[in-house]
Amino acid sequence: MGSNPIAGSLLIARISKDNPSRAEGLLEYRLLGRTNERVPVLGMGTWRIGSTRAPAERTAQTEALKRGLELGMAFIDTAEFYGDGESERLVGEVIKGNRDSVFVATKVWPSNLHHDDVLLACDRSLKRLGVSYIDLYQIHWPNPRIPIRETMSAMQELVAAGKVRHVGVSNFSVDETRKAQEALGRIELASNQVEYSLTNRSIESGLLQFCQKERITVIAYSPLGQGVLPIDIVPESLLTKYRMTLAQLALNWVTFREGVVAIPKAAKKEHMEENAESLSRRLSTPDYELIARQPH
Ligand code: NAP
Repeated sequence: MGSNPIAGSLLIARISKDNPSRAEGLLEYRLLGRTNERVPVLGMGTWRIGSTRAPAERTAQTEALKRGLELGMAFIDTAEFYGDGESERLVGEVIKGNRDSVFVATKVWPSNLHHDDVLLACDRSLKRLGVSYIDLYQIHWPNPRIPIRETMSAMQELVAAGKVRHVGVSNFSVDETRKAQEALGRIELASNQVEYSLTNRSIESGLLQFCQKERITVIAYSPLGQGVLPIDIVPESLLTKYRMTLAQLALNWVTFREGVVAIPKAAKKEHMEENAESLSRRLSTPDYELIARQPH
């Protein structure tokens, strides 16, 4: 490794301690793929958010996401699949009145990848989100039964129509990502959203390096191992040294490498606040490597 691992990141000014609505620490941004778009290194996931029938729980989820926006995590990831559209509806409520200051990413489900189905799915997502454009429209999973060229021709039309700003994929292998890139023609494939955490490091065997080389942003999903990271995955001495919780060090670690951003999900406000503080100081390279050498 050796070189500065967060080169290419922008460290934005330290937030005022006097402003209680803001996290103390550094907000960090990275360029999205080869675009000029800067996205927060920490965004917010929304799987299992919005589908509850309990009004109090829904309110708590809405409040948590709004708090995340206040703290700078102005990048929300959702999908038409989540809660059968309910997650997108809740995101729509959260960003209402604030749309242009939030980077909104959603996804089209693999059964909707024929040309006309993509266009229809996008319109439904726009409606549920209450927006006129989606910042990042992602293919949720590959579908080998539908030619990627057909799907991407619809994506090209959505970009031309101004309904979608950037196109991404999710759960694509190296080969599938390469084919998706080719099928998009002159539009740059911006990102590949894949599972990456201290407990799931499979992308390190090739996909991560490929995406870094091609400047395709890796959006790490389930970066907290869906909330069940083993306590001994990080040496205790480092939790003390950095004065961070396990979740914070896990997010710090997963976003250490160039070209990686993460979208932890937190339905609880206190979790959201804790996550927003994760990048207030960065792991040193030797400590990053020490954690990387732990059994996982
Ligand atoms: P995750 O973010 O790894 O973990 C979420 C769990 O961690 C929740 O139970 C949450 O609790 C808990 N948590 C959050 N912050 C915490 C903290 N500071 N301390 C302790 N626990 C904390 O899992 P995920 O939801 O699977 O992944 C994140 C997002 O990635 C999803 O929401 C979704 O947007 C995306 N995703 C995409 C795909 C795909 O196929 N593209 C697949 C899976 C996920 P509370 O909610 O109670 O606060």
